[in-house]
Amino acid sequence: MTQEKPREMVLKGISGSPGICIGKAYVVDREGVNIIERYPVSTAMLAKEIDRFKHAVAKAKKEHARVIKALDKDVSGTLNILETHMALFKDKMLYGRTIETIQNEKINAEWALRKVSRQIKLMFQQVDDPYLQSRVNDIIQVSDKIMANLLGARDIKIADINKRVIIVAHDLSPADASQIQLERIKGFVTDRGGKDSHTGIVAKSLKIPSVFGLARATASINNDDILIVDGSSGLIIINPEEETLFRYEERLARFEAYRADIERESHLPAITRDGVSLNLMANIELVEEVVSAKDNGAAGIGLFRTEFLYLDLKRFPTEEEMLVKYKELAELMNPQPVTIRTLDINGDKFNPFIDPVEEANPALGLRAVRFCLENTAIFKTQIKAILRAAAFGNIKLLIPMISCMEELIQVKALVSQAVVELERDHKVFNKDVPLGIMIEVPSAVLMADELAGQVDFFSIGTNDLIQYSMAIDRRNRRVAHLYQGLNPAVLKMIKMTFDAAQRNHIDVIMCGEMAGDPINIPALLGFGIRNLSMNAASIPVIKKMIREINMEKARQFSDRLFQFTTVQEITGFVQEEFNDILPYRETED
Ligand code: PEP
Ligand code: MG
Repeated sequence: MTQEKPREMVLKGISGSPGICIGKAYVVDREGVNIIERYPVSTAMLAKEIDRFKHAVAKAKKEHARVIKALDKDVSGTLNILETHMALFKDKMLYGRTIETIQNEKINAEWALRKVSRQIKLMFQQVDDPYLQSRVNDIIQVSDKIMANLLGARDIKIADINKRVIIVAHDLSPADASQIQLERIKGFVTDRGGKDSHTGIVAKSLKIPSVFGLARATASINNDDILIVDGSSGLIIINPEEETLFRYEERLARFEAYRADIERESHLPAITRDGVSLNLMANIELVEEVVSAKDNGAAGIGLFRTEFLYLDLKRFPTEEEMLVKYKELAELMNPQPVTIRTLDINGDKFNPFIDPVEEANPALGLRAVRFCLENTAIFKTQIKAILRAAAFGNIKLLIPMISCMEELIQVKALVSQAVVELERDHKVFNKDVPLGIMIEVPSAVLMADELAGQVDFFSIGTNDLIQYSMAIDRRNRRVAHLYQGLNPAVLKMIKMTFDAAQRNHIDVIMCGEMAGDPINIPALLGFGIRNLSMNAASIPVIKKMIREINMEKARQFSDRLFQFTTVQEITGFVQEEFNDILPYRETED
């Protein structure tokens, strides 16, 4: 019997990072229960393993109780089932025997739970009683919930994948993405995720194509299915027909030729046609990315996102550990500038090693400087490491997510304290490090004049400025259409920030992803922005555009921009005025 060839299927999502790749799918569904590993647990660690299981049960119970509480009392049938489940969480058969299995067989909790739930299933199936048989399903559902918690608490071991594949996941955190081994992973696609999430930023810097927000990717794709990922258009094709495959192979070749072409010119100076010089710098997450920043012609590090060091270590690094990294970075780049941003943890860069605080809206929660001001010892340790590293290069200190003057006052007090303590301890350091703040919350834009009077520079973080101005979550695919850099409200905020900085004679750098997208360049240059920091992979294409643009034309263009009120009109206006220099983009739609 011949097997029918699966039909070609197209799924549309959101572009995570540009480029095309073709390869086999590797599904790592974090929520699925089919990636259970079996590993031995030493006698000394058994108590801890049992605790991990108990913790997963307690969490599942708590979640379950919340569901029951929220339930309308009229739906008594459902309520009955759920209350049965509640009892099953501590059922001797499931709970007690799983603990015994961990203990007796010295194996991990996931494996023990699976073994026990399979045994129960088998046992009940042999009994000819419909009531008892229906209880099997209850047990399976309860066991799945516990399993989800056990698996959820663990990282997907992406670093261990040793095939040339395209990863298909329900969701990938920025920390997951940063484990990707370039020589093995061709690209990745996820069900969840929105525009310019940190996961996308990591994908861009790895130069691998990705598509997010596909909703049904893990449900529709099987391991080893052939996939085409078109990161530029934000779509994927599952099991493509010959003809489609051929068309994409050609596009892939054209894309690679285009990339090679612009990369050849990346070391030329960033000067406009009419002689205005710009600084194009790189955003990096790891010190190792300095190589790629230099290869792409960066004139410095405009943003070093320090949180990835914390996420990797899964604990807070010591002052000495940070000093080693920051010093290495400063020395590698010297005399070019390196802007080190203090910890921007939580939000979508959740913190896997602190007890997760349950927040309904993590993006609006205890993130970045808010977290640091509640954990001043952690904050001061980092500030000290930065001031010490500044003795070895051209370092600037940047504070993320300032939303009011009070926060800035507290930060400055902590920096002063750090200086006093470093002096007391006779450390080598530089106390004249320029201090800047990220302008990424609308309240900071409105207070830009006052804030500018207190700092040495502003860094405009458009990823969050768009998120907070438009009130959309960067990770949420359902509102990704409102993530609009060219929205006139966002452009006004950028201009207001720049003008306030000018009035107060401080520098401005833009380090959000907007700075790396050609469509935004005429407006940004027209407003007066001269320092742009972006994903290193975007530098060559932006540099090419800058070398072809006329600054005076950009200035006049920006004066006329606000006659338009919609993104569509503004985009059309850019395309009309700068059609000759905007890079060619192939899209499927
Ligand atoms: C930004 O918000 O634009 C930014 C650069 O910071 P991050 O993307 O790390 O939030
Ligand atoms: Mg930000």
